[in-house]
Amino acid sequence: MRVLRVRAGLLLALFALGVVFSPYAATASPAASPLPVLNPTVSALAVDADLPVDSVAGSQEYRSLVERAWFEARPGLEAQGSQTRLRALEIGMANVEGAARALIASAPPEEALAASLLAVRLAPDLPIAHMALARAYWDAGRYQDTLVHAGAGIAAIPRHLEASIWVVGSLLMMAASVLIAGPLLFILSLGISLFSDAAHDLGDMISREMPSFARAALLFALVLLPMVLGEGAAGFVLALFALGFAYGGSRHRMTLALCAGLVVLGLYPTLRLAGTALTALEADATAAAALAVVRGSETPAQLDLLRQADEKSDDLASYALALRARRRGEVEEMERRHRLLLEQRPADPVILTTLGNLSFKRGETQKAIEFYERASTIEPSATLMFNLSQAYASAFRMEEFENTMERAQRLDAEKVAELSRQGDTGFVADLPFPIMLIRDRMVAKADGGAFSSTLSGLLAPGWLGRSWINTVAGFLLAGLIAFVVAGLFQHASRCARCGRRICARCDDSMWSSDICDGCHHLFHRPQRTDPALRMARLQELRTREARVERIHLAVSIIVPGVSGLLAKRPDLSFLSIIVCAWAVVLFVWRNGVVPDPLAVGGAGPLAFILAGCAMTVIYIGVLISGLMIRRSL
Ligand SMILES: [Zn+2]
Ligand SMILES: [Zn+2]
Repeated sequence: MRVLRVRAGLLLALFALGVVFSPYAATASPAASPLPVLNPTVSALAVDADLPVDSVAGSQEYRSLVERAWFEARPGLEAQGSQTRLRALEIGMANVEGAARALIASAPPEEALAASLLAVRLAPDLPIAHMALARAYWDAGRYQDTLVHAGAGIAAIPRHLEASIWVVGSLLMMAASVLIAGPLLFILSLGISLFSDAAHDLGDMISREMPSFARAALLFALVLLPMVLGEGAAGFVLALFALGFAYGGSRHRMTLALCAGLVVLGLYPTLRLAGTALTALEADATAAAALAVVRGSETPAQLDLLRQADEKSDDLASYALALRARRRGEVEEMERRHRLLLEQRPADPVILTTLGNLSFKRGETQKAIEFYERASTIEPSATLMFNLSQAYASAFRMEEFENTMERAQRLDAEKVAELSRQGDTGFVADLPFPIMLIRDRMVAKADGGAFSSTLSGLLAPGWLGRSWINTVAGFLLAGLIAFVVAGLFQHASRCARCGRRICARCDDSMWSSDICDGCHHLFHRPQRTDPALRMARLQELRTREARVERIHLAVSIIVPGVSGLLAKRPDLSFLSIIVCAWAVVLFVWRNGVVPDPLAVGGAGPLAFILAGCAMTVIYIGVLISGLMIRRSL
């Protein structure tokens, strides 16, 4: 009864996902037998799921050999799992995703652990399955196993096409945001810190009597000019960049040059790559349909699309249709398609192995050995070597059998153990579909350019944003002008002790750009000042210093990058802004920049949050070192 409940739940989930039965199932393998017990449930569920009525009749047939193995296996999750996995390996289906997803979605709480263990076994490369298992262990109070399987979920991401494209797209988008926002924030905070000195100098050029608010307004208008001329935020930042370049020291200038380089890197290649990855999964309908066939979830519309593309001799569509015939056990169709494919791809180990397996099953052992040997010179794999050893054994070539079996075990002992578990001398397995063909097609068709120009247009709508050359030229020109102009006059500054304005033009006597005349006398020439007045003045300065210190500490903690600027370490300031920006984007986009393609599950957020925590720790370290350097100044 328990098994039946699991099966009914499974069917419900499969219908909900629309991954197992299709309206085309009526034409599926004729050998399949109906499941009388399940049919009433199926009809009821199908009506629930709002499926067309004819698909209910068709549901008595199976859509693939794997599905048949699942439903015709001996009762019990373990037996179903083993037989389905073995059948899947036989037809090169490395992951039975539909069944794995259904198991996760439909298992009642008390069976969650068994169901998710089986899901992981059926689809070892599906991150969401590992995360379901981690969750089940968590609920069972087995925290160490939870950690192990959460880690396995993250580790599975690169092995899964949709998951890896999603993670790479999200990471690239985050990187582009950090590369653009980090430098802009640094240029902005540096510009703000230098603003009053520059405003004073600008005012002196007009009149020394000019009040400071008028000087500030004048400079502000000047900084906003490029923006008013239609260059957008990029123009504003470019003006502040020039300001920083004119007033900063050599360390400031080096950091600013680095900033300019990173902005260009973020705005152009990174944003473009992010757009390519984020749009790749939907960029090419034929590739998406081929992927659906690999996953066993193709819709009738996708099948039509593949057939049309196949007529126009689209390689990928032909490959996918050949795989589909294999999955359904349509031997003649599959052989015809694989032989045609072999003419176009004579060095494809997947096709060679499938044809070898076909010959082996027919008892044409010598022919099979030829196919396998041909494939093994191209790309030896544990599965292929296992097949070859089976063929040698069948031909009583025992020495070669042993050598080949050893070679297979050296390549992947675990896989060989799984393949030999059945103890069936007639068992051979296909190789998995070369998924890179699909990935390459998707990436080639994805248009990252439209995505990146839309986003960069928001920041740099004018001449500056027209191409990367313009942006680089803009920064170079601004830096050059700032460099020349900066040498033409003496810069105003503020006294490090009392904060008074120091300006060679306005003051009659000037000691240095760091300390005002009054403070110089106070600290370095005490004999010339009245002792009582001196004590009072020193007390006043100490009070001021304590107040400024408190304000600086507060601002340093609240605003990223300030502690580095105050420590006269622009490099440290920039580093802390970049690290802080990474932490922010990782937390804000912890669920990805676009929705998860139902493959990553909790593995994505977990990886992003862990990385965000690591960035936060680094940020705190940089912040503290900035505060310590400032204290030692
Ligand atoms: Zn002073
Ligand atoms: Zn002045």
